[in-house]
Amino acid sequence: MEDIDPPREVAGSAKRILHDLERLGMTSDLPVLYQSTRCGAYQSAIDTLLSEGKAFWCSCSRKDLPPSGIYPGTCRNGLARGKTPRAVRLKVKGSTVQFTDLVQGAVVENLEQTVGDFVIQRADGLTAYQLAVVVDDAFQGITEVVRGSDLLKSTARQIHLQHVLGLPTPAYLHHPVAVDDQGRKLGKRFESDPLDRLPAEEAVRMALQFLGQGPPDGMRLEELWSWACAHWRTESIPAVQCIPADLSPHA
Ligand SMILES: [Zn+2]
Repeated sequence: MEDIDPPREVAGSAKRILHDLERLGMTSDLPVLYQSTRCGAYQSAIDTLLSEGKAFWCSCSRKDLPPSGIYPGTCRNGLARGKTPRAVRLKVKGSTVQFTDLVQGAVVENLEQTVGDFVIQRADGLTAYQLAVVVDDAFQGITEVVRGSDLLKSTARQIHLQHVLGLPTPAYLHHPVAVDDQGRKLGKRFESDPLDRLPAEEAVRMALQFLGQGPPDGMRLEELWSWACAHWRTESIPAVQCIPADLSPHA
């Protein structure tokens, strides 16, 4: 449960997400791990990277960075005189990451060209998302990461972090996400989330169809899950990043 960004969190959202998943028949095999309990592990990883010279303190604020947002390496070899350390960045020099996504196929990314040295500890002291998920995936022994294609652009950074921390790289599957007619991901942000307005079996059926699976009609929730586990075909998932979808309950 990604709950280490208090400025951005909506009160009660963790509880609500777990409740929504449970209603759809998705419960965790293991106790839920909350990132807010893991700050020591994140700090230890950041300290290790700093002491090994793989990460460095950066004093730059947003206005010091180019419009592209790609970090130009300003503080990589030490802070200029009188500058205050703010964030911690990971060195990416010369790092090209290659992986084969189970749906999206081969991905090659040169991190120096796409993001530059990236933040692993934010200026407000909070751990960056990229570092937290990598440390947690290894801690929980995760072997397959399945998530929306909106996170495909984070994956090369996460694999680079696994390499420098000496952690294993899981398999990745980035499925297409449903977008509205303006190309925006459907979600609560846009008040387009119909999940709690649909019967659970209808929501799960729509999700399976969206992912290219073809469940038979008229199944109850438990039957749908049994069918999905027995007949799941990764190769049937559309190999695209976005699919326009009208999931409006009024449609
Ligand atoms: Zn800097």
